Amino acid sequence: MTTDNTRESDLEKAEFIDIAHKIVREGLGPICDNCLGRQFATVSSGLSNKKRGEILRYALKKRDVEIESGKCWLCNGLFVHLEDWVSKALEALEEYEYNSFLVGTKVSGLILENEELMWEIAGASFAEPLKAELNREVGKRIEQETGKIAEFDRPEIVVLLNLWTDEVALQVNSVFIYGRYLKFLRGIPQTKWFCRACRGKGCERCNFTGKMYAESVEELIKDSILDEFQGVDMVLHGSGREDIDARMLGSGRPFVVELKEPKRRHVDLQKLEEKVKEENVGKLEVTGLQYVNREMVARVKNAKAAKTYRVKVALKTDVKEAELRDAVAALDGVVIEQQTPTRVVHRRADLVRKRRVHELKLMNYAIGSCAIEIKCDGGLYIKELISGDGGRTKPSLSELLGAEAEVKELDVVDVDLDVSVEDGKS
Ligand SMILES: [Zn+2]
Ligand SMILES: [Zn+2]
Repeated sequence: MTTDNTRESDLEKAEFIDIAHKIVREGLGPICDNCLGRQFATVSSGLSNKKRGEILRYALKKRDVEIESGKCWLCNGLFVHLEDWVSKALEALEEYEYNSFLVGTKVSGLILENEELMWEIAGASFAEPLKAELNREVGKRIEQETGKIAEFDRPEIVVLLNLWTDEVALQVNSVFIYGRYLKFLRGIPQTKWFCRACRGKGCERCNFTGKMYAESVEELIKDSILDEFQGVDMVLHGSGREDIDARMLGSGRPFVVELKEPKRRHVDLQKLEEKVKEENVGKLEVTGLQYVNREMVARVKNAKAAKTYRVKVALKTDVKEAELRDAVAALDGVVIEQQTPTRVVHRRADLVRKRRVHELKLMNYAIGSCAIEIKCDGGLYIKELISGDGGRTKPSLSELLGAEAEVKELDVVDVDLDVSVEDGKS
């Protein structure tokens, strides 16, 4: 094998044998082949550090250099007991489903000090850090044992070798699923609201649940799917949120759920949709589920999504249909100046936002009520567009009619997301 001979002859230059000699002479005791070879990691590629160490040891013997044998002073025998770390890692990984992983090492203070000392003796110009070799060697063995792939970019699990504690810990990365939810029942918030009286501790007012509402979209989805992934927790990231008393119909609202520390990551999403439906009849459904990457969370949350609403409006009985048609036409395509509504100003900054009504249609009219469909920029408060909120929203249906108008029921029927889900597929 000529190539190997060339590699070996690179290492056998006097310059390197001199350094190896210095390591043997000035080191704090016996040195293993891995630790010796690692100081020359960049000299000849394609060899393991162990092999490099063997070649140099042989070259030193030819020079009649006496080499101490015994436990390596630098790694303290770490590379002799590599298999122990591999078994610990495999044991920790056993109950997890994954395709890709990465090994990381938390090096102990003693080894760091030894390594610095080594670099003072040998120079660090050709060396590789101990942790890089350990990560690679343990990674290779896990690959061989499991058939899984060590991946730097987006590993599903990071295996952490802690040389301080002698323990292996896992960092299990979240699974992200994109979808849309439909909410058929009014009175359910998107996420859990802590009880205002006790702030979540539990009190008489909240019946010791700590919550303002018994259920939320997030909790309902979580109850149906978390077990399937055997995760620790689930968080819902919605593209905006509807009012608690509004239904979410039509195409549904885009969301990404994050499943934390899942033991299962390849669940059949079609079946998952069915499960959510069966367990939440009359309340909730999810559609279009697909696995995505972490970046989709921010993209879905920050998307400028146009919304379409259908509202039932209560009117003063003396409002005539013609007046109503004129008022509706006057709002169509108009930019609304909206000061933060009175009902939310306690939790949102008080400022004036400009939002456009894309389209406004009168769906039906009866004496004292009507139904309107509104397509508008995300972030326009619909209840106030109708009521005027005491002049804080301008113009408003109420203002144009010169008579009180109030939303009685509100449904969201479309959320038009300007984000491509295809780009975020995982
Ligand atoms: Zn060593
Ligand atoms: Zn309470």
